[in-house]
Amino acid sequence: MLWEWYQNGLAEAYLIFRDEVFSSKKIDFEADPKVEFECLKEDLDKFEEFLEEYKDRPLANIKVRKEQDGEFFYDIKRIFPRSGKQSIGKDKDVWEVVNFCIKNKKASCFICGRQGTRTNTVLFYPFERKVLNYFPSFNEPQRLSLCPLHQRVLFYSFGNIYYARSDDRVIIFFPSGVDYERIAEFSTFLKELAFERISAPEENHSANIRLPKGVSAYFPFEFLLPLLLEVFDLMERKQKDPVEILSEIRIELVSYLKGGLDIFDHYESISRIDELFRAFVCLKKKTKGLFSFIPFYNGLTVGFRERGKKLVDKNKIREDWAKVLLVKHRVDFISLNKAVMENIKIYKDEYRFIPWYQPIITGLLEGLGMKNDKELFEKINALGWHLVADEARKTGGLGENQLKSFLWDIFRTRTSEDFISALVELQLKLGTNLDLREVMENKGRWREVKAILLNGMANALYGKVTKENSQ
Ligand SMILES: [Zn+2]
Repeated sequence: MLWEWYQNGLAEAYLIFRDEVFSSKKIDFEADPKVEFECLKEDLDKFEEFLEEYKDRPLANIKVRKEQDGEFFYDIKRIFPRSGKQSIGKDKDVWEVVNFCIKNKKASCFICGRQGTRTNTVLFYPFERKVLNYFPSFNEPQRLSLCPLHQRVLFYSFGNIYYARSDDRVIIFFPSGVDYERIAEFSTFLKELAFERISAPEENHSANIRLPKGVSAYFPFEFLLPLLLEVFDLMERKQKDPVEILSEIRIELVSYLKGGLDIFDHYESISRIDELFRAFVCLKKKTKGLFSFIPFYNGLTVGFRERGKKLVDKNKIREDWAKVLLVKHRVDFISLNKAVMENIKIYKDEYRFIPWYQPIITGLLEGLGMKNDKELFEKINALGWHLVADEARKTGGLGENQLKSFLWDIFRTRTSEDFISALVELQLKLGTNLDLREVMENKGRWREVKAILLNGMANALYGKVTKENSQ
């Protein structure tokens, strides 16, 4: 984690350097800012001076406005887990508190190996305190030991972290990678989506980056996904190749609950983001991008329109779905069906099926290169859909209510044998021959097959019959 944090700090320093120093010097436009920045980095004293001079830039990213007097202060406690021992006085500058001094003349810096360091114990290095609790993957045996220069570089990372607090949960993420120039390039897009000034209109909600309009998230993965789609949109509008920019970029995503022990309960280093963006390219071709994705995404919450229901309850299934997509690059059919069945329970006949379901799922599967899954989905989804739609068209066929109760009969099956016999029974009642070859061939994945089939049926029963949902 230290290395990721450090690379991100360098990226932030590089961005500021490019904006403030490089552009104002009006150097020959042929000059490479990275070469110039490398020169600065080599001269340790000058680099330290530079970091000192522009410290307000990274600090601005973690300032939160205080309601009463309209002043800005560094309310770091809103973002990072608290610690009983440490608190920062409101009148103190975070930069001063961090201190950047040398306490131990003989110890060497974890990053550059120079002697003369200070052991950091302050709150701002959240991965440093109770480190195993926060980031299990970080296995530095000791406390962070950093020279004054590298304490400053790490501090610069605060200029390039993104966070949101919703109800009692805090989410923090930041980009990382081996090349700070790539991180910086990706960050220019994130910074465009970030708030210029952070205000905290309500005690429990504050964020320095905004989600696309119409989305409310509580958990980390469901928060990150639509944001990435928005970054993708932005890159496309600027005619930048997202896949090129994102190769070798990772996102460090952490989250924790305020109020208890304030220990991170989610931590994931998300890699292969370029592959995910490739899937977004395909998604965009099949749908209207974010415009279609938002209603789809809200369809994965449970009781979306229910007032008084907490986000923690509404969004749990969507979080599971988003996590599988972000981490495993797979479409989680079982969560998709769970969300549908839970919503049918709440809304009954008033329920409306997930908008844009079919084109978004096929778009994702195709974009992720899941050829077999895509075929399976298309066949089983069509089977479920036709089973209901053909019957509804028949005169004297089974009524809608009976079809709805079949949905629950199939849902309640607990083994692959139960599932198949429920389908055979249904076949008899409908008096038709269903093509069950695909079901039989995928017996090992019967739970997923069942989920896809049920959603196909539910789509025909509860879907708005529009072009994008029909087969
Ligand atoms: Zn150092």
